[in-house]
Amino acid sequence: MFPEKIKLLESQKLLRKIKDKSSPQSRVIIIDNRELINFASNDYLGISSHPFIVSNAIKILEIFGIGSGASRLLAGGVVLHNELEKKIAKFKNTPSALIFNSGYSANTGIIPALFDKDFLILSDELNHASIIDGCRLSKAEIKIYKHKDIEHLKKLLKTENKKQKIVITDSVFSMDGDIAPLSEIYNLCKKYSAFLYIDDAHGTGVLGNGKGALSHFNIRPTSWIIQMGTFSKALGSYGAFLAGSKDVVKLTLNTARSFMFSTALPACIIAASLAAIELIEKDTSSIKKLWANREKVASALSDLGFDLMKSETPIIPLKMKDIDAAIRLSDKLFKKGIYAPAIRPPTVKKPRLRITVTAAHTDEDIERLIDALKTA
Ligand SMILES: *Cc1c(COP(=O)(O)O)cnc(C)c1O
Repeated sequence: MFPEKIKLLESQKLLRKIKDKSSPQSRVIIIDNRELINFASNDYLGISSHPFIVSNAIKILEIFGIGSGASRLLAGGVVLHNELEKKIAKFKNTPSALIFNSGYSANTGIIPALFDKDFLILSDELNHASIIDGCRLSKAEIKIYKHKDIEHLKKLLKTENKKQKIVITDSVFSMDGDIAPLSEIYNLCKKYSAFLYIDDAHGTGVLGNGKGALSHFNIRPTSWIIQMGTFSKALGSYGAFLAGSKDVVKLTLNTARSFMFSTALPACIIAASLAAIELIEKDTSSIKKLWANREKVASALSDLGFDLMKSETPIIPLKMKDIDAAIRLSDKLFKKGIYAPAIRPPTVKKPRLRITVTAAHTDEDIERLIDALKTA
């Protein structure tokens, strides 16, 4: 039973191993006593150990302790939770916001909470697994449109259907690093009176001077746009948020099961997220550094002849011909002190190395990556 299934995964080269670090998440990490330059982190701004964030978290940790003890609807929240929600609403320019325990629990909670059998969901084929699972949990009808294919999306929006339509898309696609054409999608949603749900996990802190994808595209939030994003990536903290109208937040907090039936995030994590937003609002130099580093890496990799697929962001995939090639290259890099993991099905259809660039990388780190890839 289980052993056979494990063997099957192994024979397909799909058996993964957890590689834990004995160091903080940083530009250099230690795995199996080996020092590696880290090109696998979503801590894009390199702030997860920032002294301002850490000291704020410690201060609150000492006051409020670790466990929050209950869900938000019981007695799990403290005033900081509400302060963070107000801060997010202001940051995202929406009337209201709600904290979730993770991006995964946000998407699997919000989507089924808001979209029931009266809805038709139109979902990009490369949307994150948490969106796919959220859709599966909802009673809505689901149609998948081809990746970023505006014509296909338009055709689906045009089809006669009594149902209320909703378009769901990642803002930045987490494995391909390309950006959804949000201006076109926004215009279509407006024209066909559809809702728009965007997952800004990799846009928050990265696009639009940190404010995210809508800001990047100069799209003003409206009552029919629902945004989620995470504190766990560029903001270097943990957890997620919903940002939208007052009604959307009110309905979600009363119906999203992952919100209602799960213990609230600890106050010290909330304090860290608050500090992270303050930090990037005050000083956008790390965002500028991130993009400068991204350009350096992307141009050097294309010069080497790699297929970066359609990457436009600090997420840079290197397309490989098969799983074997991806694993072999990743292993070779590991031996040369570079951490860049192979990504394989079911995470992606096309095997690849996924390189993430951060603001913390030095020119020397980037040179070492390029040299290692040259010789590997
Ligand atoms: C990482 C990610 C999530 C999940 O967020 P977590 O806070 O890690 O659970 C959701 N959506 C996208 C697009 C992501 O990349």
